[in-house]
Amino acid sequence: MRQTLVMGNWKLNGSKAMVSELITALKAPAAESDKVAVAVCPPVLFLGQAEAELADSQIALGAQDADVNTSGAFTGENSPAMYKEFGVKYVLVGHSERRTLHGESDAVVAAKFAAVLEQNLVPVLCIGETLEQFEAGETQSVVEAQLQAVIDQCGIEALGRAVIAYEPVWAIGTGKTATPEIAQGVHSAIRGFLAKQNANVAAGVQILYGGSVKGDSAAGLFAMADIDGALVGGAALKADEFAAIIRAGA
Ligand code: PEP
Repeated sequence: MRQTLVMGNWKLNGSKAMVSELITALKAPAAESDKVAVAVCPPVLFLGQAEAELADSQIALGAQDADVNTSGAFTGENSPAMYKEFGVKYVLVGHSERRTLHGESDAVVAAKFAAVLEQNLVPVLCIGETLEQFEAGETQSVVEAQLQAVIDQCGIEALGRAVIAYEPVWAIGTGKTATPEIAQGVHSAIRGFLAKQNANVAAGVQILYGGSVKGDSAAGLFAMADIDGALVGGAALKADEFAAIIRAGA
């Protein structure tokens, strides 16, 4: 039985005041049901504050990206080993904004995935197709290539220690959510692809959907057999909206 996971990606948003307000408001909804686990990924600068404020909560902490190196002359970077010191559990790797704006290839994403696992943190592998690829009917081949790059580098068993987030790029921040049926079709095909390599990993791995999920669209998505939660951007910045998504998973 896979637990529903609702994860908020705050991206480049926040302030000390906002971190406090949001975390305070989310503690109660996050504690309402064991059926749903909750995590937030603030900007790196706020990880220390978030760790302290989450101490008496059931909300896990995540980071939005990681460097492949542990330490050294890599200006501006942050390593999984550093995240561990701040109580981080999850690390997003391969978010489409990293792939697009920072030119991260499948190979770079796979190396980041390996670096996160190396520290026994949970990589959240983000995969998904662009609008052009969606319209060309290439969704499945794109997500399979993104998955296979990680499998080639880390082995299929590594995905058993990770979370997958299917995020169609055309749905991120656009207000266009894939219908539950479209998302379920891709999630099911992802699980089928993994099952050919390891049935246990395929059955156990949580596959989140991401792309303009809101309080009123979450329940329909979570009702689908292969959708195990959501990675949420914009709606994660509004306590009421994010709480509604959490409750939809309960
Ligand atoms: C995301 O950034 O992972 C995301 C899904 O964003 P949004 O919910 O705003 O589409």
